[in-house]
Amino acid sequence: QTNMLLIRSFMILFLSCIAVRMNLCFTGIPFSLRMLYINGHFEFDKVEFAARDFGNRYQYYPAAILHPSSVSDIAMTIKHIWKMGPGSELTVAARGHGHSLHGQAQAHQGVVINMESLQGPQMQVVHNRSFTYIDVSGGELWINILQESLKYGLTPKSWTDYLHLTVGGTLSNAGISGQAFRHGPQISNVHQLEVVTGKGDVVNCSEEQNSDLFYSVLGGLGQFGIITRAKILLEPAPTMVKWIRVLYFDFTTFTREQELLISGENTFDYIEGFVIINRTGLLNNWRSSFDPQDPVQASQFKSEGKILYCLELAKYFHHNKDNNNVDQEVKRLLSRLSYIPSTLFISEVTYVEFLDRVQVSAVKLQSKGLWEVPHPWLNLLIPKSKIKEFAEGVFGNILKETSNGPVLIYPVNKSKWDNRTSVVIPEEDIFYLVAFLTSAVPCSRGNDSLEYILTQNTRILEFCKTANLGAKQYLPHYTTRKEWQAHFGPMWETYVERKMAYDPLAILAPGQRIFKKAK
Ligand code: FAD
Repeated sequence: QTNMLLIRSFMILFLSCIAVRMNLCFTGIPFSLRMLYINGHFEFDKVEFAARDFGNRYQYYPAAILHPSSVSDIAMTIKHIWKMGPGSELTVAARGHGHSLHGQAQAHQGVVINMESLQGPQMQVVHNRSFTYIDVSGGELWINILQESLKYGLTPKSWTDYLHLTVGGTLSNAGISGQAFRHGPQISNVHQLEVVTGKGDVVNCSEEQNSDLFYSVLGGLGQFGIITRAKILLEPAPTMVKWIRVLYFDFTTFTREQELLISGENTFDYIEGFVIINRTGLLNNWRSSFDPQDPVQASQFKSEGKILYCLELAKYFHHNKDNNNVDQEVKRLLSRLSYIPSTLFISEVTYVEFLDRVQVSAVKLQSKGLWEVPHPWLNLLIPKSKIKEFAEGVFGNILKETSNGPVLIYPVNKSKWDNRTSVVIPEEDIFYLVAFLTSAVPCSRGNDSLEYILTQNTRILEFCKTANLGAKQYLPHYTTRKEWQAHFGPMWETYVERKMAYDPLAILAPGQRIFKKAK
């Protein structure tokens, strides 16, 4: 009788395996997913939304979208796929806000998990003995975290320029903005994570607990687990911001002063910069939101045909409490700088307006249908010792103008990055983020076409390689194993070991194209 039972169970298992295989082969819809008893739901028909991202260049249709309502929905789905073994081609991609550039949150004929539908305990601010954090879902948008923290007079410390991105999405990369020089990237400001690994295990991890998984996941490009919850460190929030822009003609002075500003404690709260090549009427455009300190001189300033470097700064303060002090402090800090005097522009905005500043442009572009165009962005991290060589080779040479989108350039301190995380950064104490945030005009054949911008990107990357600048891609995109290996350099072995430990079947984040699921 035992033998009969064994044979029957074996037959059932065998037949269901065949059924799964046939289903995958003939319809592409893994019917076994329909059998899973989850609280959320799967969507098998309307899956286009998960085949799109901000880059607007890659479209891989998944077989299903999971709208989880709890972490156990995610764990159960991954465990199910894990148990199918290497024979199944099913992969899983967490999708945050879908603001990737190269299909990184997509899964061809796999399962995309819509992280924004993940519910769970409400966001919660917790005061510990030595620090305060907010406990949030991995699918939460940073703008919502800001709004919730502010109810307690608190704020996260480190940001991205745009807040309509999810916690899981930015922590999978690094999360950098003008505060990173002081606080490090967002991955340096996390106390604890809850993660579902590629085996379907739910694990809490932090510096003290399961620390290898914690550091693997931070900056790990989604390869080692799905972040379902995160505890983000907070600090007291300001209410207002002095937002400042000044211009330089000379690149060396511009970068020297950026580096001077990021080296001291008593400095601005946000330090970025951007390159402006051959843009007319530049200062007049700024007038709608910034006040020129010398209106007459500013109106006579001509930017056409020139390469200019804009230093962008912010000083936080509390309304009423330190109004006078902040003016004095800004004046003192600016007095150390040698920008073009007539190009000092200052604006005063609320803290939320400042942090959510990109949303204003996003809404304008959306209304004109210019947000859903291809975005062939290129983000690079360049060591400080090579930034001048990079600028000479690229600005005004490979890049002739900046009308297709902003080009950011600002330094950060490596000491604020934790070398136990998975993110790859250059080998120098200070390195620069240089971000070419271009938009392509569909059907154009000119220098705003996708083809033109992609060729330009290739030339920039080739220049970095030939000149041996030691540059690293941020939000990296490669298509071959060899390129990934070169990107990780000496970290590659550790990265592979981590993959073997936490996602040995390569189920997770196939859109990064680092590992391929074994058949
Ligand atoms: P998605 O695009 O949905 O996912 C990105 C990757 O992370 C995918 O591989 C996905 O599978 C994985 N992933 C998503 N959620 C999870 C999760 N919960 N657990 C594990 N893996 C997950 N970056 C900066 O650092 N600084 C900036 O200032 C900045 N500004 C930006 C401005 C705009 C307008 C845009 C479009 C992007 C910007 N970025 C910036 C890049 C952005 O941080 C990344 O593209 C980020 O991944 C987008 O988050 P998302 O929620 O849309 O993630």
